Amino acid sequence: MKRKLLRYSVLAMCALIAVLLITCSATGNRAFGYWAIAAVAAAFLIVIILGRCPHCGKLLGYAYSRVRYCPFCGDKLDDDDK
Ligand SMILES: [Zn+2]
Repeated sequence: MKRKLLRYSVLAMCALIAVLLITCSATGNRAFGYWAIAAVAAAFLIVIILGRCPHCGKLLGYAYSRVRYCPFCGDKLDDDDK
């Protein structure tokens, strides 16, 4: 569940960042640019919080949504998306 959540949240944040950057350049309103920066920071936070091995707690980052086994403890990661 966490892996899907991580993948979709990062995709959603990327879409949000793209929309904010397009709006920023289209309107010339800098506020959208600042929101885009905030969204990038939020995306990193999501990866740091959700992208962890459920067994050893080590940070795998976005790789967590793709790898099947933890490179640190070798344990099988929960695969709800077979
Ligand atoms: Zn691990």
